[in-house]
Amino acid sequence: MRIAVVRETREAEARVAMVPELVGKLTALGYEVLVEPGAGLSAGATDADYTTAGAQVDDRALDDADVVLAVQPLGVDQVRRLRRGAATISFLPTAQVPEVVRDLRDLAITSFAVELVPRISRAQSMDALSSQSLVSGYRCAIVAAGMLRRFFPLNMTAAGTVPPAEVVVLGAGVAGLQAIATARRLGAVVKAYDVRAAAAEEIRSLGAQAIELDLETLEGAGGYAREMSEERAARQRELLAPHIASADALITTAAVPGRTAPVLVTAAMVERMRPGSVVVDLAAESGGNVEGSVPGEVVRVGGATLWGGRNVPAQMPAPASRLYAQNLVNLVALMTAAGEDAPPGTFLPDWGDEIVAASCVTRDGAIVHDPTRVALE
Ligand code: NAD
Repeated sequence: MRIAVVRETREAEARVAMVPELVGKLTALGYEVLVEPGAGLSAGATDADYTTAGAQVDDRALDDADVVLAVQPLGVDQVRRLRRGAATISFLPTAQVPEVVRDLRDLAITSFAVELVPRISRAQSMDALSSQSLVSGYRCAIVAAGMLRRFFPLNMTAAGTVPPAEVVVLGAGVAGLQAIATARRLGAVVKAYDVRAAAAEEIRSLGAQAIELDLETLEGAGGYAREMSEERAARQRELLAPHIASADALITTAAVPGRTAPVLVTAAMVERMRPGSVVVDLAAESGGNVEGSVPGEVVRVGGATLWGGRNVPAQMPAPASRLYAQNLVNLVALMTAAGEDAPPGTFLPDWGDEIVAASCVTRDGAIVHDPTRVALE
């Protein structure tokens, strides 16, 4: 069967869903791989790289595809080029692209949303949320270090000693832990806070100080955070205020699944930071952890500079694509028929598999992801 790799069309999307290094893994499974011309250019992969790796570069890749791999949801025009029964695997934030979901349903396309892959041990190698969060976390620390007009590390020189920068990280999930690790590698003194009890140990294991607040922890289903009450949020802000006021750089990465990001830091708290301080809000696109942050923009708040994240993994397109492509190879392998009855390269998802069932949005002319069906039908 044929796998097509899309040339992404959304603004500022520089990633590609399959990289030349991993094409061989798909051909080894028995698939033919077709790539739209120029698909990998913004991630540093030329058409010639794909051809050398065993793919065909073809403007009509989508038209005959059995499986389409993409980063962003396909556009309506792209969906309408697919044949009935084809499958797509991509990020698919259904609430943001209802028209695309209805088209996928009406054209009987089988669509999988990578963000719905369950976070169970067996699915770790398919977990695109984690792989892309890792890129975002690294990038946040580098952006903070780049914007701060001070050293991150301690410098002891003949001309005197320059103390290290103090970095505060709020939210210590996959992205936050990577931001902590990166800031530590650059020599900063790092303090971090997360509402989940388990996070404190992980923060300390990276050589950072876990900020302990006299507040209940908020562990919810699946090891994720729960939403805070407004009362708890206000108390958390009050207790965090002195830590933030003394930070040179603040990085926020807090999220609660299915909710807008919690506001952890008010503009007044940022204004109390020293002139020249920097704030990096990774959650800007999903509502913002910091009051006043704007996705994709740098704004001034008092004497501080506030950077709002927008599609942050795409700012490091080559490694983000490499990791995402490996997630997709593992998903495709899971959905490839095994056994002697099936010819090589047969895409045949096993609907009894928890990962397959949980990540499917549309199939056989119906929306099969319950929350999406309730919202759209
Ligand atoms: P996420 O992106 O949903 O949230 C980021 C972090 O923000 C989380 O650590 C959360 O606790 C924190 N947060 C939420 N509200 C906060 C608040 N008010 N103040 C401070 N912090 C707040 O989370 P994520 O990074 O995707 O992962 C969350 C958890 O899932 C972690 O425990 C992670 O280790 C786990 N996980 C497990 C797997 C797996 O087993 N396959 C894969 C990935 C992540």
